[in-house]
Amino acid sequence: MIVLPEAVRERAMRLADALPAYVYDLPALDAHAAGVRRALPGIELYYAVKANPDPALLRTLAPHVDGFEVSSGGEVAHVRSVLPRAPLALGGPGKTDAELTLDVHRLHVESPGELRRLIGTGRAADILLRVNLDVPVAGAALAMGGGATPFGMDPEGINECLELVRARDRDRVRTRGIHAHLASGLHAPEMLDLAKAVLSFGRDTGTWPEIGLGGGMAVSYDDPEERFDWEAYGRGLSEMWRPGETLRIEPGRALTAYCGWYLTRVIDVKRVHGEAFAVVTGGTHHLRTPAAKGHDQPFAVLPTGRTGSGVTDEPVTVVGQLCTPKDVLARQITTSVNVGDVIAFGMAGAYAWTISHHDFLMHPHPTFHHLT
Ligand SMILES: *Cc1c(COP(=O)(O)O)cnc(C)c1O
Repeated sequence: MIVLPEAVRERAMRLADALPAYVYDLPALDAHAAGVRRALPGIELYYAVKANPDPALLRTLAPHVDGFEVSSGGEVAHVRSVLPRAPLALGGPGKTDAELTLDVHRLHVESPGELRRLIGTGRAADILLRVNLDVPVAGAALAMGGGATPFGMDPEGINECLELVRARDRDRVRTRGIHAHLASGLHAPEMLDLAKAVLSFGRDTGTWPEIGLGGGMAVSYDDPEERFDWEAYGRGLSEMWRPGETLRIEPGRALTAYCGWYLTRVIDVKRVHGEAFAVVTGGTHHLRTPAAKGHDQPFAVLPTGRTGSGVTDEPVTVVGQLCTPKDVLARQITTSVNVGDVIAFGMAGAYAWTISHHDFLMHPHPTFHHLT
């Protein structure tokens, strides 16, 4: 269960006959991002755009961040169209030659082969070398490092890259430092352990003006009130910082998850082989997050005053309109729910709409609304 802010409740009741819809709470995002910024004095803060590229979200974040981490030419063009002057750091394991020649503030190089192609283009670039360190990432929801993955390169690859830029093109391809994004879903103490490992590796390979520590700060879908401890993280990073170094982080999920709401309406409540199901308009083709991550999406039920039959205080599985058993938004949550109620799924501001298979079954797309 999740506490629904009054402004979201009000909008949900106004939209009740026009659901499904996404509602983004921009004042909440603004306050959250300001808090994160305050907790990280001296640290460069980039937002990982792939978590949610909604233009209004980008504009709301802009005053609180130093730049944006992007993963494709499409994201570069998109952020440029919304915020023409924002610094961009371009990463991603499969950059084409065309993407390598985009004019960005920083380029995260993911392999020696990619560096050779970059040198081959003849373009100038400020690069960070992305390392996949062999460090334990226990407790992570997703591991991009600490083992064989296509993300970044192992320490031998970094040495190979350093040889490459040393041998030639030193002035055109300027190595600014080391970058790592090793895991996601880690709490502040584990994130600080990772930072320590990345910094010590980086400092062993050279004297770099910049070290990128990635994103991956934990978000708890089980307990929406539990938040990443930005103060502890900020304190830990300032203790590790050395003069002359810029430390940069690039969270996505932990910045925008909380500001998004996916609102649906209950079409049917039924019991099948003894279990109660609530079927809602929309589903995981709009909000794939719970299917992708295997969790129950937290929600609140809003009676509309025009509600029909349902169930009271018992475990209910909330499903969408898709003809697949995978279209489950939340499983066996004890609640009361009736036909016609609005269900407001929270924590739908990151890796939600954009990671979903929108046109599977050809239901109408949700509408999008912004609280200002
Ligand atoms: C996705 C991604 C991020 C953001 O990760 P979150 O878990 O959303 O914080 C940061 N850096 C890189 C390189 C990424 O691929």
